[in-house]
Amino acid sequence: MPELPEVRAHAERLDASFSGAVITGFRALHIAALKSFDPSPDVANGLAVTSVGHRGKLILIRLSGPDPLTFVVHLMQGGRLRPDPKKSKRPRGGMARWEFEDGGALLLTEAGTEHRAGVWLVAGDPDSVEPLDHLGPDAHTVGRTQLAAILAGESERLHGFLRNQRRMAGLGRLLANEILHSARLSPFANTARLDDDEIDRLHAAIGSKVTTSLDHERTLDDLGRSRDRPSDVHHRIGEDCPVCGDTILSIEYRRYTIAYCPTCQTDGRKLADNTTSKFLK
Ligand SMILES: [Zn+2]
Repeated sequence: MPELPEVRAHAERLDASFSGAVITGFRALHIAALKSFDPSPDVANGLAVTSVGHRGKLILIRLSGPDPLTFVVHLMQGGRLRPDPKKSKRPRGGMARWEFEDGGALLLTEAGTEHRAGVWLVAGDPDSVEPLDHLGPDAHTVGRTQLAAILAGESERLHGFLRNQRRMAGLGRLLANEILHSARLSPFANTARLDDDEIDRLHAAIGSKVTTSLDHERTLDDLGRSRDRPSDVHHRIGEDCPVCGDTILSIEYRRYTIAYCPTCQTDGRKLADNTTSKFLK
């Protein structure tokens, strides 16, 4: 799934292409695409896009008008939001389309059959309503003191903490692996038990890894492939750690894989997940 850097760079590209464009119509091409009921998308007709930005992994298309109105787009795993000059009747994977006064269009597509990508139209402050209301602050905006406070309020494994959008928004599987490797912290370290030096390293690693990914993504014309994103451990299981030369190991879960370097992160220990084996006894 695209994480904060990919979504941010993509929002910047869409902002350059669509800011100022006046909406003439929004249409859901799939029944599951529009996730909100009120207001009706018809209220956007005649309004201009003032900016395209993001909150965490979600794209925000802000509209002009007396009251704040925002289309919020969640790409999920396989969603894509692209200029649509062809405007074909039944685009492959088509979920929703915005059409503009100048003849241009923007198309949301989703690969696969899950149909989890979607669009909300929200009135007022988008941060206070679904789907943004449960999000923590964007990861790259969290200061050292704020991070320490969020960590202290939880008692959970760091890898899960970093991916939990309620704690901080925007990080996913790749960045969680990369941040913990860069910070030399175990994926299983407990959030409440980090010392000051460990919190310093975690904070610095969040900033540097988001920046590295963002710099890479800004060189592209469209959302990049996960495989091509800069990484030291993610996608590198079985390879040599670029820092110490030890072999990168993994822990496999159904929906994601933790990749880590034992020498850099766990004092050489091999991690085994005992949360599932407990239930097997
Ligand atoms: Zn290493």
